[in-house]
Amino acid sequence: MTKLLRLIILIMTIVIVISGCGYNNENVKVPILMYHHLVTQENIKNNPDLAKNGSVISVEKFTEQMKYLHENSFNTITLQELTNFIEGKTQLPPKPVVLTFDDGYESNYTLAYPVLKKYNHKATINIVVRSTEKPIAGGLPHLTWEQMREMQESGLISIQSHTYDLHKYLPVNKSGKKKPAVVSPIWLKDAEREETQEEYQKRLQEDFSRSKNVIENKLGTKVNVLCFPYGVYNDTALEIADGLGYEIYLTIKKGYNTASTSLKELYRFGIAEKTPREEFIEIVSGKY
Ligand SMILES: [Zn+2]
Repeated sequence: MTKLLRLIILIMTIVIVISGCGYNNENVKVPILMYHHLVTQENIKNNPDLAKNGSVISVEKFTEQMKYLHENSFNTITLQELTNFIEGKTQLPPKPVVLTFDDGYESNYTLAYPVLKKYNHKATINIVVRSTEKPIAGGLPHLTWEQMREMQESGLISIQSHTYDLHKYLPVNKSGKKKPAVVSPIWLKDAEREETQEEYQKRLQEDFSRSKNVIENKLGTKVNVLCFPYGVYNDTALEIADGLGYEIYLTIKKGYNTASTSLKELYRFGIAEKTPREEFIEIVSGKY
């Protein structure tokens, strides 16, 4: 073999190794699944409307889905792992899927967590901190700090922010028209005027910082994910949250995340009781 030929082979080998043995980052499509509340089939039998609710899934159906991921060699990854990939720091395992739960219902602990543990699946739970600190009477029960601590210590569950108390619609003018609390200055009833831009920004700043601080203090972990209530946000909200140390933003826009997706706008697929099995399989297989 000539020296030149040997040199060419060496260079080609290096190129192949560097490019990840033919692994093309551009082709990776990562679905983030969004769940909310879990119930039992028995609950649905007694209240059939639950099956139509886009935020509800039975533990039986959820178990089937988690089992499918397990038996078909999917790898549940954390949002941090997805972030590292988007930032070009790491490769992802084959068939990656991210699991998220919004609102912090207690059913995430009582019904979902045992299933996640059984299959060793990782997930992120985005909590509305006020729902844990000051539960609304008559509402669905939310997670306690104790339950969250236990889940987090398993290494499978990360607890992140869904704001402190902005998961609601508030009046934005005198006539009482309401908008999601994150995206608009609100109507100050007593002062009979709209919030100034400064007051609006201060309200977001205080809420985003409070939810981050409370979770970090209670659980001793880093909070850098902000899941916007109803998936709505604006540049002001992003800028304020960025300044507080949030780095990863979850929306409810449908779609896959790729190496070029912005961390400011991660896409998700909502999964509920009404999601057909075939659709779930299409979504996780990157064929939706
Ligand atoms: Zn929510």
